Amino acid sequence: MADCLFCGIVAGDVPADVVQRGQHTVAFRDINPQAPTHVLVVPKDHVDDAAALDAGHGEMLAELFTTARTVAHADGVDASGFRLVFNVGEDARNTVGHLHLHVLGGRSLEWPPG
Ligand code: AMP
Ligand code: ZN
Repeated sequence: MADCLFCGIVAGDVPADVVQRGQHTVAFRDINPQAPTHVLVVPKDHVDDAAALDAGHGEMLAELFTTARTVAHADGVDASGFRLVFNVGEDARNTVGHLHLHVLGGRSLEWPPG
């Protein structure tokens, strides 16, 4: 999608610290990390957000979640625990309009979120 930041990262046009590339997804470190591990896993094909998903995205979503687990393992936070987050819309403070799964770990995270 033209003018989409994360489509630019997927295409390699925008630099990013990519940690994993799969058939359907790319994982890269968040530019403004909120925890020692803060990785974003995104689909290669543009999807606006989690509210735009449908049954046709099943294979991509399976890879999105297995990639999150692999990233957590590679960063050594799988045993201590990690959080997976999709923000949707204004109240959730979604800022980038390309679906991304936040993988957060490496410290004790507060709940409920602020
Ligand atoms: P959200 O608020 O769920 O839309 O999260 C968007 C995330 O993208 C934020 O955590 C940003 O720090 C992150 N972000 C924005 N631009 C970049 C970039 N160029 N590379 C990596 N992460 C980014
Ligand atoms: Zn996009």
